[in-house]
Amino acid sequence: MRLNVNRILHTPGAKADFHFEMDFSDLEFGGMHPVIHPVVVDGLVVNRSGVLHCQLQAETTLRCVCDRCAKEFDAFHSVPFSCILATERQSEDSEEIVVLDHDEVDLAELARTAFVLGMDTKTLCSEDCKGLCPGCGADLNTESCRCKKQVDPRLAALAKLLQDE
Ligand SMILES: [Zn+2]
Ligand SMILES: [Zn+2]
Repeated sequence: MRLNVNRILHTPGAKADFHFEMDFSDLEFGGMHPVIHPVVVDGLVVNRSGVLHCQLQAETTLRCVCDRCAKEFDAFHSVPFSCILATERQSEDSEEIVVLDHDEVDLAELARTAFVLGMDTKTLCSEDCKGLCPGCGADLNTESCRCKKQVDPRLAALAKLLQDE
């Protein structure tokens, strides 16, 4: 998706909005393909006093697998992104500047980069997920541990001493 901003480039107050969808079903994160639904991108380029401000939002519902309990769950994921569009590179500006290519901006590229950078490296079904017991594999969110209480051998020896007294 490329947008030509020629129409609003020299007209303060002028706007161009955009809406498109992207397919990231082949994107891999941690060995999974969580982007099973299209990513919907909505945004706007506004000429504010001769400067082009671009804002967009990339949204989808991800199919996630919890890092702790391995449960599959859906999570709404929304990544905002904004930048300035300029016809040539400016050195003094600290805000993110994207240089136009023949008055065009590659919105798909911007949205893709923002979306990928916005992916969480940790995926939890909830902040306080208790995870699985490493011993018996019980999902500690819904069931209690079935492990026999592992007794520390040193404590066992101590217990035996106390018993023998
Ligand atoms: Zn979990
Ligand atoms: Zn257990």
